[in-house]
Amino acid sequence: MNKLTPAELALLPKLDRIELITVRLPFVQPFATSVHSWAVKEALLLRIESGGVVGWGECVADPDPYYSYETTQTARHIFKDFLLPQVEAGISFAELGERLRPVRGHGMAKAMLENALLDLVARQRGVPLHELLGWPGRRIQSGISIGIKDSIPELLSAVEEALRRPYHRIKVKIMRGKDVAWLRALRAEFPQIALMADANGDYRIEDAPLLRELDAFNLTMIEQPLSYSDIVQHAALQRELATPLCLDESIHDLDDARAALSLDACRIINIKQGRVGGLLESLRIAAFCHERGVGVWSGGMDETGIGRAFNLHLQAAAGFTLPGDTSETSRYFAEDIVAPGVVLADDGFIEMPTGPGIGVQVLEDRVKRYELERERLS
Ligand SMILES: [Mg+2]
Repeated sequence: MNKLTPAELALLPKLDRIELITVRLPFVQPFATSVHSWAVKEALLLRIESGGVVGWGECVADPDPYYSYETTQTARHIFKDFLLPQVEAGISFAELGERLRPVRGHGMAKAMLENALLDLVARQRGVPLHELLGWPGRRIQSGISIGIKDSIPELLSAVEEALRRPYHRIKVKIMRGKDVAWLRALRAEFPQIALMADANGDYRIEDAPLLRELDAFNLTMIEQPLSYSDIVQHAALQRELATPLCLDESIHDLDDARAALSLDACRIINIKQGRVGGLLESLRIAAFCHERGVGVWSGGMDETGIGRAFNLHLQAAAGFTLPGDTSETSRYFAEDIVAPGVVLADDGFIEMPTGPGIGVQVLEDRVKRYELERERLS
């Protein structure tokens, strides 16, 4: 077994108060993938308190199963009935991880718990989360994920607007029927930009000839072209394409990353800490990829400012060499539940929060304003 990191060895505090809070925040504009369109962000939050210090976690599941089988309701059930009973003051994060291992899958519910505990411990120690995780803070590159649009001109203007901010990398969602011609138009208009496409699993291996046409557009990567559950057919597709494939939905843990790289199913991995069970598993995946020269980046789930802050701290780690999906708060919400929000510097970089824990203040009055449900647990 590898040597445990200081964060894995950190001990869990005694919890005085535990609350699950559901909030619903309207998006500034709906966000559409090949699978579904969302107009509001409904998020399950975990608020824990110990000795007057509060830690927060966010579950990245949606209320629906259109990105993952996990939903806010399954996360609530798994958290209350199977995860929370394993939490005990004085055990280490590594031991908690072992205790949660028999619960198969449900990485989003697990990440919410681990997030809140890590935030709480970092706040108690008065250190930024990235420092607890063992990485010095640094500025990170920004990236934007642009949803499916109704027309090519609409997509072109959304990209133009993003480049003015300026984002370092543009990702556009694609789907069958909105792919080759759309990317050709984008490339013609913006020949030099770092551009990638995310299909959210809309294609089949039989579409390989069509996907091969995308090689002409010098994309940084094509993300999750085939099924959300597949690794093997992505390997067959990667053999047909010059463009690197990136896996997102297919990667749930280090074992999936290992399988994907050993099959050459992808050359890049999108690590969503909220999907793979939390920051500690994310760092294991990042280290594994880094040792093999495989780039990783941090994807987003349109989180509130709480989840977005966790994604920022993760990107302090080695291996996060590619710009992720971390965008400005104002792109998502007119009003967020944390301060300060994410803002790009003039050069497009994002500063890492420097305060204790996730380094942003959770605005409890705003949480209350957007709250649908609050449940106190013991
Ligand atoms: Mg994706």
